[in-house]
Amino acid sequence: MTNGITITRTTTAKPKPKDSDLAFGTEFTDHMFLMDYEEGKGWKDARIEPYGPLSLDPATAVLHYAQSMFEGLKAFRGQDGKIRLFRPQKHVARLNRTAQLLCIPTIDPDVVLKSWTTLVDLDREWVPRMVGTSLYIRPTLIASEPFLGVRPAKQYLYFVILSPVGAYYPEGLNPVKIMVVDKYVRAVPGGLGEAKASANYAASLYAAEEAKHEGFTQVLWLDGVHRKHIEEVGTMNIMFRIADEVVTPPLHGTILAGVTRDSVLALAREWGLRVSEREISIDEVMDGAKQGTLQEVWGTGTAAVISPVGELAYKGQRVVVNGGRIGELTQKFYDTIVGVQYGTTPDTRGWMLEI
Ligand SMILES: *Cc1c(COP(=O)(O)O)cnc(C)c1O
Repeated sequence: MTNGITITRTTTAKPKPKDSDLAFGTEFTDHMFLMDYEEGKGWKDARIEPYGPLSLDPATAVLHYAQSMFEGLKAFRGQDGKIRLFRPQKHVARLNRTAQLLCIPTIDPDVVLKSWTTLVDLDREWVPRMVGTSLYIRPTLIASEPFLGVRPAKQYLYFVILSPVGAYYPEGLNPVKIMVVDKYVRAVPGGLGEAKASANYAASLYAAEEAKHEGFTQVLWLDGVHRKHIEEVGTMNIMFRIADEVVTPPLHGTILAGVTRDSVLALAREWGLRVSEREISIDEVMDGAKQGTLQEVWGTGTAAVISPVGELAYKGQRVVVNGGRIGELTQKFYDTIVGVQYGTTPDTRGWMLEI
């Protein structure tokens, strides 16, 4: 037992992949963290076990009604060899916010943080070394009660798995082509848009497949009511630099409160840039592109940190952003955050937690 966590170590350690072979989400480490919830007893039986399959009754509630959610954050091996998590407390808070929205019992924030630090510490040899690589942490919460009635479950499973991941941009930051959709919507006010709910991902697949079929990397979602205001792109938040102002949609309940979004806004404000969290319509963006005031567009999220957007297509019109190249500010945000993550830029904001 450490920190109230029972640890059963694996007796058959897996061979570790080469850093240069890493992709995203294909390899998993030797151990996983698990904890159960039972109504009347609370969260209990925190444990680390060898990584392996779960056994679930076919009647398990999550398989039928999608009471399921997750988080995603990363551990980095700095140039000094130390391992650090990027803003884990923010991810803990969001995990519990999502849980509330899905009627899943929240977990003591200290317990969540310990589940991540203890597991990463145990599997620390799995944190890759090559620049751009990291260890992705995937905490997940599911309704585990075998029951087909429609109501919040009385039993839950919280588990955490770890996956060494490769550099998102092995050949430098490549601007992506985005399709603005008005045929499908991702979320509506009063819905689950601000939750990291698994169901939001299921709901996004159809539009994403259509966009891919037409040669685009991602979908840019508009608001679910007017199909006019920008929401977010794929699994990232979106930002614009228009007439030297950094603009991003506000957190009004239909988009995810990204930790990367928050970090970029903090930097922009620190650097004295004009920053607005406000409604921005697709017409304003398209007009800005035509008039030359649209300077840069980028997505923000844990996986890519920053993803420059080089082209937008809406209602049959295509506009190219910054000549299809990464913008100056986009690059600066990327370099600064990545520098802090790998310990090459001083962490003056208390973003990193050393393990
Ligand atoms: C996770 C996620 C993001 C990005 O959040 P980060 O905390 O920056 O990783 C944005 N949009 C959606 C829909 C997400 O699920």
